[in-house]
Amino acid sequence: MQIKEVRAFVVRGGGADYHDQTEAHWIDDHICTPMSKYEEYKKSRKSFGINVLGTLVVEIEAVDGTVGFAVTTGGEIGAFIVEKHLARFLEGADVTDIEKIWDQMFNSTLYYGRKGVVLNAISGVDLALWDLLGKVRNEPVHKMIGGAVRDELKFYATGARPDLAKEMGFIGGKLPLQWGPADGEEGLKKNIETLANMRSKVGDDFWLMFDCWMSLDLNYSIKLAKAASEYGLKWIEEALPPDDYWGYAELRENIPKGMMVTTGEHEATRWGFRMLFDKNCCDLIQPDVGWCGGLTELLKISALADAHNKLVVPHGSSVYSYHFVFTRQNSPFAEFLMMAPNADKVVPMFNPLLLDEPIPVNGRMHISVLDKPGFGVRLNPACELSRPYTH
Ligand SMILES: [Mg+2]
Repeated sequence: MQIKEVRAFVVRGGGADYHDQTEAHWIDDHICTPMSKYEEYKKSRKSFGINVLGTLVVEIEAVDGTVGFAVTTGGEIGAFIVEKHLARFLEGADVTDIEKIWDQMFNSTLYYGRKGVVLNAISGVDLALWDLLGKVRNEPVHKMIGGAVRDELKFYATGARPDLAKEMGFIGGKLPLQWGPADGEEGLKKNIETLANMRSKVGDDFWLMFDCWMSLDLNYSIKLAKAASEYGLKWIEEALPPDDYWGYAELRENIPKGMMVTTGEHEATRWGFRMLFDKNCCDLIQPDVGWCGGLTELLKISALADAHNKLVVPHGSSVYSYHFVFTRQNSPFAEFLMMAPNADKVVPMFNPLLLDEPIPVNGRMHISVLDKPGFGVRLNPACELSRPYTH
């Protein structure tokens, strides 16, 4: 079965670019970032442009009219790359040519790609191709990549209210860190107070984690981890900028016993993750399947992680990661982003862009909800797509 056409669209307001929220939302409420040292960009991540890209939707149509699609972050730049550069490697190729197409997309963009938005675009195409192959074969993606190793998935919740997440059946809650090095000792104290307060609400057995979104330095990270260990912090996530592999290695060496160092949300490809493993930077990696190179690359990253005894718990990314997590022994639970503005109820992660997007019920998901061809979701026709480029 040959591929007839590749199309790239842009859509605003939630979706894969989940930071693109219009109303007041915990995800934009004073979260510490590498930009927090600038007073004018401290309060809101949207103020420095975290939602500037928007969502990219890639559609791939086969000659029989079957359409596969996927969504990621990449917006208009991503759409340009897909239409003007990557589409040529797909149109006329067979829907099963997944390895060859990935290799051609990656190598042809090496001179301006390797990481970032180019890899987001490659990921979007790769995921749409898996969706198309599943629809052509009438099989869910998880059955094409080895099959499920468990019937049920457990989730932890990322958001401002781990106490409510516990009531909703999640196994843990990950708080966004709110204060960083620029806020000095007082900020550090406030971070620990937040953790202590949450610990008193959820009890001893519920996981609590801090997501630091690349905002700290090594010294601050070690101080935070030591103070937080008293309150049973399970892991410290993305404490340092992603390029500081040396800092991560030192952080891991100095972390309190029993606490994990996690990172990789903004890392890409098997070569990027190889750096994390070679330098023993972390205990658990968090690749985003929509950013790291797609499912084809995530399978390779995961095999590499397995050989280094590292866990793989992908960052968010909804159905695109669920199909993967169900099939890997070294991926024992999954992340769920609480996209309700007050983190007080479970809503689909890519709301409102996808129809049939499964959500955890009582913090769990059964494999049967994924038993639909491809990734098993549809685009919501109420969301307005625009196609800024053609080829
Ligand atoms: Mg994170």
